[in-house]
Amino acid sequence: MSRGKISIAPKLSKNARTVLAKRYLKRDSAGQPTETPEDMFRRVAKTINAAETGTEKNKTNYEKQFLQTMSNLDFLPNSPTLMNAGRELGQLSACFVLPVGDTMESIFEAIKNTALIHKSGGGTGFSFSRIRPANDEVRSTSGVSSGPISFMRVFDAATETIKQGGTRRGANMGILRVDHPDIMDFVMAKRDLTILTNFNISVGVTEAFMDAVEKNQDYDIINPRNGKVVKQLNATKVFNQIIDMAWSNGEPGIVFLDRLNRDNPTPHVGEYESTNPCGEQPLLPYESCNLGSINLANMVIEGEIDWDKLELTVKLATRFLDNVIEANKYPLPEIDEMTKANRKIGLGVMGWADMLILLNIPYNSQDGIALGEQVMRFINEKAHEESKQLAKERGPFPNITGSIYEADPIRNSTCTTIAPTGTISIIANCSSGVEPLFAVSYIRQVLDNNKLIEVHPLFERIAKERGFYSPELMQEIAEKGTVQDIEAIPADVRRVFVTSHDITPNDHVLMQAAFQRHTDNAVSKTVNFSREATREDVATVYRLAYKEGCKGVTIYRDGSRDMQVLSVAGKD
Ligand code: ADP
Repeated sequence: MSRGKISIAPKLSKNARTVLAKRYLKRDSAGQPTETPEDMFRRVAKTINAAETGTEKNKTNYEKQFLQTMSNLDFLPNSPTLMNAGRELGQLSACFVLPVGDTMESIFEAIKNTALIHKSGGGTGFSFSRIRPANDEVRSTSGVSSGPISFMRVFDAATETIKQGGTRRGANMGILRVDHPDIMDFVMAKRDLTILTNFNISVGVTEAFMDAVEKNQDYDIINPRNGKVVKQLNATKVFNQIIDMAWSNGEPGIVFLDRLNRDNPTPHVGEYESTNPCGEQPLLPYESCNLGSINLANMVIEGEIDWDKLELTVKLATRFLDNVIEANKYPLPEIDEMTKANRKIGLGVMGWADMLILLNIPYNSQDGIALGEQVMRFINEKAHEESKQLAKERGPFPNITGSIYEADPIRNSTCTTIAPTGTISIIANCSSGVEPLFAVSYIRQVLDNNKLIEVHPLFERIAKERGFYSPELMQEIAEKGTVQDIEAIPADVRRVFVTSHDITPNDHVLMQAAFQRHTDNAVSKTVNFSREATREDVATVYRLAYKEGCKGVTIYRDGSRDMQVLSVAGKD
């Protein structure tokens, strides 16, 4: 690096440049980008650095470091920060949770606020558990109520209409407690694949319920309007229905509400009722959270983890994300207040599967799972160290008294979250989140019906180095979807290039659990099943996730549906 001048953004792939030009860069009225990716990183670094405390000299230092870490693709903040920092909108968070009460005012207030958040590129989560059930009494009109599911359809329609001004489609999480009277209708709500298409749905499960499932017992169903027990349902029957729907189309997922709340750092402020759309970030009503992810592929130097670089990157990223809270322009005053009172940030990782390949360790191995735990423990510890350091410099989060951190001041009430990194992993050209590779090579449809074969860059490099590369082989892999039974590829290479379908659902869950053990918030992870998997296989995984301490489970059985809110959103 020459003095004073920073070398930046040399490594962006063609794909990354296309995504950036389409949705992240400033554009003129004709839709042409008016900034380069390099300009974008400068704009973000400058805006986030403006929130720095300390001397002018210090500030400049951090601006350079922020710029360098992003343009090296070592660390990237979530999409809204890249898109909006230093621009008029200025909304930098990916995740929001809004309260939904049992009144018309509250429900439609939430819809209005959802519209404002979606317009700014954020995703929203809600619990609908407070809404009285369908056909319950409504005193003021002497009529009957419509129930949570029909109100969800109004949220869905509003989301459909907004489409986030062309940058992202809206994404919502809808949660209903398992003891709500409408639970069976909720579980079945997405049987028709054309409704609630802008929602991911999850059942909020309690430990009492899981216990009742184990013992095949009945459990209480409660009307939220008056807290009265209205009936009992058989827990196994409800569980089996959840499994049946998840098996047939991947939804609903489940979230373990008691577990979220056991890790709630500020129970004196409120209780968790919902997460953000992809489930990795539990939030109190009116909280928002900004995420950021470290590219683990860039933390391997000559076949070994560079722990010093990782530590520096974690600490810089933690500081960056704390600054984002200050630099952010919040869509509502309530969100501004709640977010600044608890100061949650969510630092996570991407490129985990790539890191394992670089280290020559199979994803589905004991070593792989143990290393996942070690890496995340390290990141979590270093993020907490830095947040404690920031508390000394800048003060702890305002709600600290009464929180779990009262005796040990920290700047951020949560520090770590594993996001899906759906788009930022494309920008960084690495595998997403903590997921295994989706494919080693695949056929991409390009214009005029032409087909292009995309090969995983590490695989291509190894194949060339070891002399087994050929276009025909790449084609064969793309068609098969796996390298596992291709004899022309050396066994040791096959062993590390495992894809999500080569890995058993159990191993998916064990990896999720390994990261969860050292993550303040939750882990975004999809457990993939083959088309032939049975309902019992799915049930086994739900039970395993519960036993292993996961905070939720999302599964997908191959071919069970061809449309998914976020994967479609990522491509339009
Ligand atoms: P990115 O890679 O774009 O930063 P992620 O895939 O990591 O985003 O998703 C992180 C969170 O961002 C999600 O859980 C959700 O809260 C929000 N999010 C993702 N995609 C969308 C979208 N299309 N619309 C609104 N929010 C989204």
